[in-house]
Amino acid sequence: MGGRPVLRRCVACRERLDRQHLWRVIRLAEGGIALDRGMGRSAYLCPRHSCVEEARRRRRLQRALRCPVTDAILDALEQRLEAGLTPVDRRPPPP
Ligand SMILES: [Zn+2]
Repeated sequence: MGGRPVLRRCVACRERLDRQHLWRVIRLAEGGIALDRGMGRSAYLCPRHSCVEEARRRRRLQRALRCPVTDAILDALEQRLEAGLTPVDRRPPPP
């Protein structure tokens, strides 16, 4: 287990990164949007202001997920950035 990183593309800058280092935004199968955890179509975003702003301005999450995404999601990511939280900090602890 472990080893090779799983690469995902940021919806804003299009860079491919290890998914551990990206925020994950999920369109839940049961409806609604979640961060970090959940089952459904996912979009990924770098933990950078420039990528969050690009996603907001160009509606990149909406396009990737093909559903409405409220600004509250982007605001939450901005708040995490300001708090110095990285995607790795949001991972669940190992069992
Ligand atoms: Zn990016």
